[in-house]
Amino acid sequence: MTTHGKVVAITGASSGIGAATARHLASLGAAVVLGARRTDRLDQLVAEIEATGGQAAATRVDVTKPDDLQSLVTLAVERFGRLDVLVGNAGIARIGAVADLDVEGWSAMVDVNLKGILHGIAAALPVFRRQGSGHLVTVASTSGLKIVPTQAVYAGTKNAVRTLMEGLRQESTDGVLRTTSISPGYVRTELVDNAVDDPAVREQVQQSMAELGIDPMAVARAIAFVIDQPDDVEIGDLTIRPTRQG
Ligand code: NDP
Repeated sequence: MTTHGKVVAITGASSGIGAATARHLASLGAAVVLGARRTDRLDQLVAEIEATGGQAAATRVDVTKPDDLQSLVTLAVERFGRLDVLVGNAGIARIGAVADLDVEGWSAMVDVNLKGILHGIAAALPVFRRQGSGHLVTVASTSGLKIVPTQAVYAGTKNAVRTLMEGLRQESTDGVLRTTSISPGYVRTELVDNAVDDPAVREQVQQSMAELGIDPMAVARAIAFVIDQPDDVEIGDLTIRPTRQG
């Protein structure tokens, strides 16, 4: 089955890459099931997709809560009959040197970026096994490939997810599960808005993101590309970044 007709659940669908992915996949004929904490935005997006003839549903999801991921998967199955793909996209970034000892920020990144993916796996894997097929797509980062100062912990969480996906892949060679890690470079989204407390530094980061970052729809197209592959083809890793990114 290609993207058309697939049921795709997306975490972090209220903005940026997640929202663009929802719009794009729905336009290609997928039924999308959206999760995030800002339900006002999710409801707007569902209405927008339905107004253009697409199929969508949404529920409040905080990925740090395992039960919320169960609810997302249950919504997909109850509303659309199955779950073909889970896009683990929700993520946060805190920028700062390790020596700043932002213990709270470190915990938040581990909870959302890593444990949030594990909670999604816990919810989706039994459904994939029951159906005999399923695809996990996670949004990692080029920060995990080229480690830069001030992003060490963020990069660590993203690399942990890539490691997890590769381990899961090796445990799942019976043809039931496909796993994909997408690593975007700079993308123009709200990600950096809460990434740093110092207003001057924040403005600097926002400015360079606005100048260099690519449109989130570029990542949405990459996600559609990996989902669109025939069942016996798995794209394991895909990197997508601005042409001018160092
Ligand atoms: P945004 O800030 O626009 O989107 C982040 C999304 O994650 C929001 O929808 C937000 O929804 C959701 N989210 C955050 N915390 C939680 C939570 N606890 N539970 C559920 N949802 C949560 O940024 P992006 O679109 O850029 O980020 C998407 C992914 O892409 C992230 O994993 C990020 O790390 C990754 N990425 C981004 C890059 C970039 O340059 N922008 C580069 C590389 C990777 P809400 O607040 O409503 O819950």
